[in-house]
Amino acid sequence: MSVTGSAIVAGVCGQPIRHSMSPVIHNAWIAAAGLNAAYVPFGPGEDNFETFAEGLRGGAIRGLNVTIPFKEQALACADRCSDLAKLAGAANLLIFEADGTITADNTDGPGLIGAIAVQAPGFDIAVSPVVILGAGGAARGAAAALALAGAPRVSIVNRTFARAEAIATSIGGVVEAASETELDALLAQAGLVINATSLGLGGGAGPAADLALTPKNAVVVDMVYKPLRTEFLRRAEAAGRRTVDGLEMLLRQAVPSFEAFFGVAPPAQVDVRALALAHLGDAAK
Ligand code: NAP
Repeated sequence: MSVTGSAIVAGVCGQPIRHSMSPVIHNAWIAAAGLNAAYVPFGPGEDNFETFAEGLRGGAIRGLNVTIPFKEQALACADRCSDLAKLAGAANLLIFEADGTITADNTDGPGLIGAIAVQAPGFDIAVSPVVILGAGGAARGAAAALALAGAPRVSIVNRTFARAEAIATSIGGVVEAASETELDALLAQAGLVINATSLGLGGGAGPAADLALTPKNAVVVDMVYKPLRTEFLRRAEAAGRRTVDGLEMLLRQAVPSFEAFFGVAPPAQVDVRALALAHLGDAAK
């Protein structure tokens, strides 16, 4: 269907934004669903997010996905938010209501859990201590979602210990900060190990964790998806562990966003993973 004056418009906002995969994913779903809709990229200057988002109040567009570096600011500009966004301290989804208010949610954590369900079926979060490597926004969202989903312990290990501590303090409960000297002992008990650092992005070495120390049934996730088969995931596979890639997480987090924007589920007939892999090109190998 062509885009007319009554089209529903949504988008993704980040800086930089030119390499975002979200327009590829959402516009493929829009086309397959035959919607009168469009999903477009926005790249406001780093100091301009608030002005940009405030200007959209009242429904100029239906909603926004928000990515680096605006996720904390997105939560701050909202009038209401989900429990998960509040716990994570960040939002990747804003809905601009017709009454001028803004509703925030965080679908990164559900995306992670959905990706695990797809690529490591049968994995039981409730009995699996988690080790998260990294303490940026992605780690924060993952820790909040896994804590809410019932993980017995979520240990955050980061180069800068104070950032891990800050997440543990703000989320509380089962989430703890751990030092790098404790990592081997934590890995020996881990049911789930997640790379939430940017190490490995672009093909470099991933975090130095010895994944062979983990129990044989442990699952290893890498949030990095360029390249798809990161050095971290290759090491996990070499140790015989099940792996979950960052592309599946990206695709899963897009599903509830699409539903919130357009009021329908993404059409099942679109092989959105194949589309994303084609878009990744050489990085998908
Ligand atoms: P961020 O806020 O910039 O955090 C980066 C993290 O990486 C920090 O913990 C940082 O440690 C650590 N780090 C960076 N360089 C390091 C190094 N040389 N040695 C050790 N640690 C290092 O980024 P983010 O938003 O959390 O994203 C993290 C990664 O997840 C990115 O690659 C991003 O693309 C990916 N991601 C994927 C998805 C998905 O859907 N697949 C979603 C969100 C994010 P310090 O605190 O010590 O600086």
